[in-house]
Amino acid sequence: MKKVLFLLILLFLIFLAVILYNTLNFKTSQTNVEAIEKIDIREGAALRLAEAISIRTVSFEDEADFDSTQFELFNAFISDKYPNLVSKTEHITFNSYSHLFKLKGSDANLDPVILMGHHDVVPIASPAIWSVHPFTEGIKNDTIYGRGAIDDKAAVIGILEAIEQLLLEGFSPKRSVYFAFGHDEEVSGQRRAVEIVKHLQDQNVQAAFVLDEGGALTTNLIPGVKENTAIIGIAEKGYTSFELSTNMMGGHSSQPAKETSIDVLATAISKLKANPLPRKITPVLDAFMDHIGPYMDVKARLVFANRWLFQSLLLNEYEKSAQGNATIRTTTSPTIFEAGIKENVIPTASRAVVNFRIIPGETMETVKEHIVSTIDDERVEVALKGSGSNPSPISPIDNEPYRMITQSIRELYPNVVTTPNLLVGATDSRFYTPISKNIYRFTPIHMSPKNINCFHGVDERIPVVEFENAIRFYRQIILHSNGF
Ligand SMILES: [Zn+2]
Repeated sequence: MKKVLFLLILLFLIFLAVILYNTLNFKTSQTNVEAIEKIDIREGAALRLAEAISIRTVSFEDEADFDSTQFELFNAFISDKYPNLVSKTEHITFNSYSHLFKLKGSDANLDPVILMGHHDVVPIASPAIWSVHPFTEGIKNDTIYGRGAIDDKAAVIGILEAIEQLLLEGFSPKRSVYFAFGHDEEVSGQRRAVEIVKHLQDQNVQAAFVLDEGGALTTNLIPGVKENTAIIGIAEKGYTSFELSTNMMGGHSSQPAKETSIDVLATAISKLKANPLPRKITPVLDAFMDHIGPYMDVKARLVFANRWLFQSLLLNEYEKSAQGNATIRTTTSPTIFEAGIKENVIPTASRAVVNFRIIPGETMETVKEHIVSTIDDERVEVALKGSGSNPSPISPIDNEPYRMITQSIRELYPNVVTTPNLLVGATDSRFYTPISKNIYRFTPIHMSPKNINCFHGVDERIPVVEFENAIRFYRQIILHSNGF
């Protein structure tokens, strides 16, 4: 008996020692990077961003609202303001308003790199709440205001400014650099991004890496982390919608059948909500925890360092918030529910649409299987709506391009912690999968609880100093691309 007790105590002590050892050895993976001296930015850069914002390149849901004159103006703006880029690159447009520039490198053996963004913007939902004009305010209190200031004209103009300035200094790269700007990202971007990639495939392009919008420099947005954190998207969730429909006998509402089409469909939807897809710690989330864990308080650090033990505790915690939940599973989101036209008529047909955002490791096919087996009712028809997309592959973080991107970030924002993460939204970069396995999603813009709502929202803005740093960031990316 004593022996057993002794053994149990010994085991418990070993167990504690392992947990402590893991926690104490949970160290930062950030490498030392020397901050660079900030170069002067070309005169008028902020004004050019303000001018780009004043051109209303809005993507509307209804294509009939598309205003081609604004996109013509944007084309003219590029030719007018970035003459070196236009004269020193091969320039192709897709459907008139999406652009691809190729700055040819001297060494054809090196794979090219692709910097991308989009110059269309979302419409203004509630202009009355804006404190400034959403397109024509320009610069106020050293801040550039207007729709697109963050998403994504700061990146597009930031890239254009960086390369124009480099070309003026006589820069010519060893490795070719492509600049790809789409004009329909906000309406799913299917058409032009796909065409650009098709063109690049025809040229046999395999890119060393692709850099698109995505993660940001965040402050106080990750619970438990005080440090400013640069989030680099190394994968994005897939997107799919399924239409569920039922067709049954209708009739007069004074003598309802035991079950009507509305009942059946409502039950189907509640089954789906009650049985969400499984939660899991994906390799991306694992990598995120590895990077961010060492900066958390002792309690959280202990949990993050011992995921083998605390996995379900962690998942419980993530599940609590909508954002956390979206990180650990494929989400189920009914978005349309339609049936009936009159209060005393039982409709024969009911229809609902459920949108799913798919986590890496699952596919549109596995989601459909989940729907069918969960509903388990042949009266409900399940059909794919639109084309949808599977989750992107996960880009590696143990390679030169990723290291170089984190270096460029820390050269300009020295105390920032860089971490890979999963993007729960979708970007045009997902279409680039066939031509690169190294796709990274990061925009050098600070997001905090103070300005997170202006993204697609009200009073979108970016401080001038921050925009200038964004230009410097893209400059570092272009320069470092020659170095590996
Ligand atoms: Zn965007």
